[in-house]
Amino acid sequence: MPTNPRYDILFQPLKIGPKTTKNRFFQVPHASGMTNAAPNIRAAFRGMKAEGGWGVICTGACSVDDSSDDSPFPFATLWDNADIRAHRLTTDAVHAHGALAGVELWHGGAVAVNRTSRMAPLSPSGVPWMATHVGFMSSARPRVMDSQDIKNLIQWHRDAAIRAEEAGFDIHYVYAGMGYLPYQFLLSDYNHRTDDYGGSVANRTRLIVDLIDAVREATHGRNAVALRISMQELRGRPSDIALSEAHEVIDLLKDAPDLFDVKMDTSAYDCSPSRFTAEGSHEPVINFIKTITDKPVVGVGRFTSPDTMVGQIKRGVLDLIGGARPSIADPYLPLKIQQGREDDIRECIGCNICISSWHDGVPVRCTQNPTAGEEWRRGWHPEIVTRDSADQALVIGGGPSGLETALTLARRGMTVAVAESKSDFGGRVLFESRLPGLGQWARVIDYRLGQLRKMANVSLYAESELKTGDVTEFGADHVIVATGATWTQTLCGANELPGGFAQGPRIYTPDDLAHGEKIEGPVAVFDYDAYYMGGAVAEALARDGLEVQYITTAGAASAWTIMTNEQPQIHETFAKHGIGLHTLHVVDAFDGETVTLAQMYSGQKTTLAARSLMVVGMRVGGSALFDCLVAAEDGPKSLFLTGDANAPGAIAHAVYQGHKTAREVAAQVTKPRRDAAFASENME
Ligand code: ADP
Ligand code: SF4
Repeated sequence: MPTNPRYDILFQPLKIGPKTTKNRFFQVPHASGMTNAAPNIRAAFRGMKAEGGWGVICTGACSVDDSSDDSPFPFATLWDNADIRAHRLTTDAVHAHGALAGVELWHGGAVAVNRTSRMAPLSPSGVPWMATHVGFMSSARPRVMDSQDIKNLIQWHRDAAIRAEEAGFDIHYVYAGMGYLPYQFLLSDYNHRTDDYGGSVANRTRLIVDLIDAVREATHGRNAVALRISMQELRGRPSDIALSEAHEVIDLLKDAPDLFDVKMDTSAYDCSPSRFTAEGSHEPVINFIKTITDKPVVGVGRFTSPDTMVGQIKRGVLDLIGGARPSIADPYLPLKIQQGREDDIRECIGCNICISSWHDGVPVRCTQNPTAGEEWRRGWHPEIVTRDSADQALVIGGGPSGLETALTLARRGMTVAVAESKSDFGGRVLFESRLPGLGQWARVIDYRLGQLRKMANVSLYAESELKTGDVTEFGADHVIVATGATWTQTLCGANELPGGFAQGPRIYTPDDLAHGEKIEGPVAVFDYDAYYMGGAVAEALARDGLEVQYITTAGAASAWTIMTNEQPQIHETFAKHGIGLHTLHVVDAFDGETVTLAQMYSGQKTTLAARSLMVVGMRVGGSALFDCLVAAEDGPKSLFLTGDANAPGAIAHAVYQGHKTAREVAAQVTKPRRDAAFASENME
């Protein structure tokens, strides 16, 4: 189909200094977790986005010197000439599809505490960066840079830019955002210097000017120079001569770079989850940039709607539509818009599992796109699956794993039937997407159902609870059981191991809430699952007007959500709704009127009034149907257990397992296999 003329503006070329991008889709620098140590994985991941139509593809943070070492977080390096070769793979993969390649030259200063290189971290004035924040905690404190250090920093950027050009990059970034070193110079809280680089806003901005000049000189103007800068904090600070310090800084820099890439200050707000932030949320902070500079401006906002993208350009907020998460969830997003296939976009759900992968130090994982990070390792393509079979498959269960399995099997050419016992497809997502703020998670189901409904080789059967006999009678070549997991009422001991069951009336799990059970307040929510569910359920109950006390074995609410950038805002939500927070406690007893807690380390007991107890702890998978089919004399020859039924986890795990199972279903399988056993035989 032709491009909708409304979206033509997104496909207009634009000059970025000496370079020209073919369209307005700009994959801004973002972490991939891939590092120089996995250059093929990285090149295939970035190259896929170029194949999918992104006009510019950038690296993540690329350190210019070993005094900026972010380990154990993954990062790239251009420390010496030996690093060039690894990057060349990426730039070649990007150029092969007519896109420009950008490199995010980076020095972390006090943020990068150099756990591997053991260099003393650098800083303008010896102030540590967010020293009590988990990601930045360290016993190392930064040293104060002297004038030679500043000269060195500029030289390292110059040298790295020379190497970057040799590696084939077209756009070289100077990075003054997210707490990294040039940004630390900008903020008066971190910069107490009395030399030319401290004091007035102009002095605090001087380092950025010097870095831009050095990077430009390095390639003699052949390559473009981009400035990535955080504006949130500065925009809130008054200035004597401008509307804010942010306005003053941009005015000083307005002619310096070839491109402004503007963003928020910390990951929690820059890549905020959809739970708390809508598409385009940066606009109130960055909307003034184009009123000051004539240089092109790129920014992000989890843009997946082409109408919103066009609006950003037409209203003069941005010239280029930056994408990090939307480009991970759908590397083909630009091409789909260009081909008039907006319905096929696999929209990012804003869950931030991708960001958790970086925090975990592993290649990027995505809930919506199970092939992300697996383009080279497993040879998976996000859109193309080899048509290699005309077999018949039966998928039992229409949750995220069942639907992903069905979609991938159907793309392989199989005739696929999906049986779902409920009247609606969606499984766990039907309930979870109704929890406060999680509405966009329904995209996991909407995308897959939308695709499946277009395919002639797929039949979807709702209200079809299958028993062993139904399955054997159906007689499919392949049977995939994806029937999900259930929450249990198992409690947890002070040793953090699940054990024991609560006794008493009105004890619930999230499944009861999903089934519409009416919960009486006050409610005690006991969470040792530690991901989103406990906090989201507590919020839902509080929004229903119930008094809620939240108890957890961890040191914070929804402790693991520190990995997905949700936790600060979960704490804000608890405060807003008056949810009581009891960390480092276990539930010792419950009698229907009172819950008794025990402090995990002292054993000291306290009581709270509670008519109901909601346990958010352990889920169990498994499937009696699968076990019966394994045992049945006339059971299917090719049988798989996948998704949460195989191993309960996040939606990302369910989708990934479903995808992997579908890729591995082979016409010649002769005995039933669990997905895990199959996986271990097939690991590269
Ligand atoms: P996953 O995350 O692994 O996809 P879900 O719990 O989201 O798991 O989905 C499992 C789905 O399987 C649910 O929608 C459930 O109604 C369905 N289901 C469970 N047992 C059967 C069965 N015997 N026949 C058909 N559907 C079933
Ligand atoms: Fe979007 Fe979630 Fe995928 Fe990240 S993991 S790109 S937030 S869908």
